[in-house]
Amino acid sequence: METFRFNADVPVTDDYDVVVFGGGPAGCTAAIQAARMGAKTALMEKNGILGGTTVVASVNFPGLFHAWTKQVIAGIGWELIEETVRRGGAVLPDFSVQYAHRNHPKHQIMVNRFIYSAVLDDTCQSAGVDLRLHEMPAAIQEGGNWRHILVTGKSGLSLIRAKKLIDATGDANIAEMMGYPLEQGETLQPGTLVYRIDGYRMEDVDSAQLLRQYEEASAAGEIQTTDHSPGQIPFLKELSRGGSNSIHIKGIDGSTSESKTAAEVKARQALLRVYTFLRKIPGCEQLKIYHFANECGVRETNRIVGEKKVTHETYTSGYVWPDAVCYSFYPIDLHHVSSNTIDIRPLTEGTVPTIPYGALVPRSSDHLLAAGRCIAGDREANSAYRVQASCMATGQAAGVAAALAAGKNVSVRDVDIEEIRDHLVKFNAIVPPINWRG
Ligand SMILES: Cc1cc2nc3c(=O)[nH]c(=O)nc-3n(C[C@H](O)[C@H](O)[C@H](O)COP(=O)(O)OP(=O)(O)OC[C@H]3O[C@@H](n4cnc5c(N)ncnc54)[C@H](O)[C@@H]3O)c2cc1C
Repeated sequence: METFRFNADVPVTDDYDVVVFGGGPAGCTAAIQAARMGAKTALMEKNGILGGTTVVASVNFPGLFHAWTKQVIAGIGWELIEETVRRGGAVLPDFSVQYAHRNHPKHQIMVNRFIYSAVLDDTCQSAGVDLRLHEMPAAIQEGGNWRHILVTGKSGLSLIRAKKLIDATGDANIAEMMGYPLEQGETLQPGTLVYRIDGYRMEDVDSAQLLRQYEEASAAGEIQTTDHSPGQIPFLKELSRGGSNSIHIKGIDGSTSESKTAAEVKARQALLRVYTFLRKIPGCEQLKIYHFANECGVRETNRIVGEKKVTHETYTSGYVWPDAVCYSFYPIDLHHVSSNTIDIRPLTEGTVPTIPYGALVPRSSDHLLAAGRCIAGDREANSAYRVQASCMATGQAAGVAAALAAGKNVSVRDVDIEEIRDHLVKFNAIVPPINWRG
């Protein structure tokens, strides 16, 4: 392979105590927390907007902050939701109602993507976080007390340095860049493109005709099973509910720019298939796509290999880890590509899983922590703790730990767990085994 050495003297422009990579649910909470503890903190995000999957993939229904009618996740994540509610950008469900097992989504909070992202901007900035949008790390090198980060931005390369780093990229991109081992399942769950349709007359849609045309289009390869929700008459659900719809995008990874590019293209091709097919259905001639997410949402990619690992067993048994930093609440939720089905395994009544600090620490790491979807766990546990409220809770814990480690100039593995927990409580988080809030 041909190589080429670039000669570039890049001056160090900024020093930070903590740099957080990725401005999704985990990264925003981590950065706000570290900055509120007085750490000089930067939040680097490759997109031009904060919020991650919630905003750019239109998965704008964070959950779950409550379990069995009690609040189990609070702190900065909850504060962001309350502020979004206060500004008129969300409605809280009635958490005192205990829904039947498969109705857990009813306790998710529908947030307006714009208001929520503006709340994130404001809260980060008033905490003193240095927002670095449209930037990505190109390389990271250890150098004594500092991690030197070569950054790519709109105008080229720049160099910053930091004492402690938090990988909240969802994909463990930073851990990989720094040479830490990762895990990935043999198969990956599908991605999803969220969209909304209108402009059609449901009363003129004949379901028998819809089925006939679907069978013809399917035989001609013009439409695929993953283009619609499971059901006897494909697309009837989509047309009946009109509002938020989604398409499964199979065979994607999403952890690299190359694979994410392929995912985005596949997702838009799928939506074009759906649009083209539906416009041929009598009643749908004027159908419009009035919203589609900017990005294909990615459910599953890499997980760090951590000092500890959340397993299916520890998760579903509600095991209280000795170094637990937060709760997590969601059923195991694996989306299968081949059958276009979802394997949902609700938790048994009263069970609330916990997440250990060790799952945020890449094995043998001194300066890097992970937060959010990419923390250490097996595939099944990951399919549950990847939800946004849990990501926010691990983000807050990583923010506390990184600020403490930077302040004391110690390894992230040597921060006293009781000190982490005390700070989390001080900043309104709920920490196991503290009782849930009624
Ligand atoms: C289709 C779908 C449905 C879902 N349903 C629900 C649900 O109902 N309820 C729920 O709570 N959760 C749901 N989730 C899960 C949840 O949205 C994600 O797991 C969660 O958002 C992960 O948070 P995160 O902060 O770890 O990562 P992300 O939300 O992925 O945020 C990562 C951020 O990092 C940025 N980034 C990535 N790489 C880099 C880099 N190299 N440099 C700089 N920035 C980078 C990204 O642009 C992004 O802003 C769903 C997910 C999907 C895809």
